[in-house]
Amino acid sequence: MRRACIVGGGPSGLAAAIALRNIGWLVTLFESGTPPIDKACGEGLLPHSLRALRELGVDVSNDGESGGNGFPFRGIKFIDEHSCVAADFPSAPALGLRRTVLHDALMRRAVEMGVDLRWGCKSNGSETQYDLTVGADGGNSHMRRHGGFGGERCASKRYGFRQHFEVAPWSEYMEMYWGRSCQLYVTPIAADQVSVAVVSRDQSFRLADAFEIFPKVKARLKGRSAITSERGSLSTMRRLSRVYRGKVALVGDASGSVDVITGDGLGLGFQQAIALARAMETGSLHHYEKAHRKLAWKPRLMANLLLTLEAHPTVRHLALATMAACPQVFASLLATHVRESRLPRPKLA
Ligand SMILES: Cc1cc2nc3c(=O)[nH]c(=O)nc-3n(C[C@H](O)[C@H](O)[C@H](O)COP(=O)(O)OP(=O)(O)OC[C@H]3O[C@@H](n4cnc5c(N)ncnc54)[C@H](O)[C@@H]3O)c2cc1C
Repeated sequence: MRRACIVGGGPSGLAAAIALRNIGWLVTLFESGTPPIDKACGEGLLPHSLRALRELGVDVSNDGESGGNGFPFRGIKFIDEHSCVAADFPSAPALGLRRTVLHDALMRRAVEMGVDLRWGCKSNGSETQYDLTVGADGGNSHMRRHGGFGGERCASKRYGFRQHFEVAPWSEYMEMYWGRSCQLYVTPIAADQVSVAVVSRDQSFRLADAFEIFPKVKARLKGRSAITSERGSLSTMRRLSRVYRGKVALVGDASGSVDVITGDGLGLGFQQAIALARAMETGSLHHYEKAHRKLAWKPRLMANLLLTLEAHPTVRHLALATMAACPQVFASLLATHVRESRLPRPKLA
């Protein structure tokens, strides 16, 4: 039986472990942390991320014991100083889910599938007895930096901070507030909780600073308890020229990333994990690289588009005002983003 070693037990590493077990491999996963594993995140699982989780057999709908089963939201709302525009996902809602609850669901599925999980074990992937080593060790991947992958381009670096508040969600949408120097995301995650995250290019810019820029959110949270402390993480746009080398493959943020503005990091990691297992069935990591490239181009395009709006407030005002006047444009963009394009097909003469 073929054997794989996974370095990193975040969402992508656990997804890769499950996907490889699914095709009959023996899988050992090394994670330097111990559960519950948390990370600053907007905590929105887009419809295609949920589809990938279902394909992996991960049940995020029934987490009674681990602290709630999330909160469905119907679409995305963009709000700036002058305009507000919302669109629904075309066929199914998304889910706001605490990162620790997601991790728990992935972990339980991995245990059920018979993955050998080694918590509190730091690895550099130098174990040689495996047929495949998967680097799933996140954005600052040791496996990538020291694995001779080369050809790495980091086009953008931003800083995100997130905290949870005890308040009933006030919107059926994930709200994204655009300011001159930052965006604030509000994701409903339970009947009585929201997750609030701010992302900016300033390492010292925190949620308290953002609340001064977005007084409406501040008013909503006034008198409400913060139920977690503020947690930070880096958001990058990183592209690699290759995602495998010899018997080592990278998945998730280790294999390149799109800015958090897309809300797509988790879904990409799950889709890459599935693609990796499919490629291993054919015995070719080259197929994985091809699939990886195909999966990444749309999110990267969307991230570049949104980061252009971030960098140019005048263009952003105009774009949001145009979409507010013609919401179908926003709906089409959202549908494309969640891989359910509604863009009209060219008619054959
Ligand atoms: C502010 C913010 C908001 C975001 N919002 C969203 C969102 O709403 N939706 C979405 O889909 N995505 C979002 N993302 C992106 C998402 O969080 C990431 O894409 C996702 O965490 C990537 O998962 P991963 O498993 O690849 O990496 P990670 O989550 O970073 O996991 C890597 C794991 O590897 C472990 N590790 C590292 N080195 C070693 C080693 N040597 N040995 C063993 N273990 C090791 C680490 O401890 C860690 O647990 C957001 C990100 C940020 C920063």
